[in-house]
Amino acid sequence: MNVLVYIETAEGKLKKSATEVLSYGKVIAKNSGGTLTALAIGDLTTDEQGKAGRFGADKVLHVTNDKLKQFINQAYASVVAEAAKQNNASVVIISNTFNGKAMAPRVAVKLKAGMVDGAVGLPDLSNGFKVRTSAFSGKAFADIELTSAIKVITVAPNSFKAEENQSAGTVETFSASVADSDFTAMVKEIVKASDKISLPEAEIVVSAGRGLKGPENWGMIEELATLLGAATACSKPVSDAHWRPHSEHVGQTGLAISPNLYIAIGISGAIQHLAGVSSSKTIVVINKDPEAPFFKAADYGIVGDAFEVVPKLIDEVKKFKAANG
Ligand SMILES: Cc1cc2nc3c(=O)[nH]c(=O)nc-3n(C[C@H](O)[C@H](O)[C@H](O)COP(=O)(O)OP(=O)(O)OC[C@H]3O[C@@H](n4cnc5c(N)ncnc54)[C@H](O)[C@@H]3O)c2cc1C
Repeated sequence: MNVLVYIETAEGKLKKSATEVLSYGKVIAKNSGGTLTALAIGDLTTDEQGKAGRFGADKVLHVTNDKLKQFINQAYASVVAEAAKQNNASVVIISNTFNGKAMAPRVAVKLKAGMVDGAVGLPDLSNGFKVRTSAFSGKAFADIELTSAIKVITVAPNSFKAEENQSAGTVETFSASVADSDFTAMVKEIVKASDKISLPEAEIVVSAGRGLKGPENWGMIEELATLLGAATACSKPVSDAHWRPHSEHVGQTGLAISPNLYIAIGISGAIQHLAGVSSSKTIVVINKDPEAPFFKAADYGIVGDAFEVVPKLIDEVKKFKAANG
């Protein structure tokens, strides 16, 4: 099966989620005797094009059209569908990011394809084409069978390990015809919320809730996050109260993330919060109430007052870093 992977970029570089979908697509192409083509739209440095090859692409298609420098949902979907058709791709893979989620259904419609969103594992090709995704806010898995000739899959970030190797793909410029009607909603300007680590891409997330009592107490959360190279997140009531920006709100109505390490401080662990974080690889909970529901979802728990535990953690991380360079 020929596979087309849309790879997201930022400031000329591949996003981490792009390396994951490349490696994911590579396994499908390899197991089914097909090829993997990657499609990048917008700025991508020569080094990064090579990197796409090392993460699995046999061929990298690069679209350099100035009109497509910023993400435009309809236009990007047209380009991805066109690339899929021209390369006889029967599987199209997209990261389940903010942009990917918006674009994938449009691509599926254009290709008359069946679609699975938020895949958490590779397709099972032993008897048909079944893809596992999480369901009921992370409480269950659903194995979805795609029977259409073309399949579109969005892959949950951090659910598949990116693997770099020595192989290198070829690079070609790709120009697709995009209709004027695809440019009805244009991005005029992107204002970055902050220079901090991007929350959906972060390997480690330090998150805090109403147990922190007020916005003035977030200094220790930010200090711990900086020491660990982590992004910061928060529960919904915290962002509703404007203690933290809405861009940090995780859960059912906020961002869904799956970092390698999620540290939840002063968060009760309501089901709506867990819906966005329960697929984290390791969960550490710090809460003064031993009955807090979050402990049931935790790999490690500390029962204690955040205002005592977090400063101690900060000291220990500092000592560890000093001792280990
Ligand atoms: C439709 C709907 C959608 C929702 N979507 C979301 C969502 O996307 N994300 C989300 O987060 N919530 C969401 N909620 C809200 C959710 O139900 C909870 O109310 C919310 O997650 C609770 O936030 P919290 O844990 O920060 O606060 P609380 O429930 O007030 O819990 C605070 C916790 O801090 C602990 N604590 C207090 N002081 C300390 C201390 N000094 N040290 C250590 N621990 C301490 C307490 O023991 C407690 O467990 C949604 C609700 C609804 C109805």
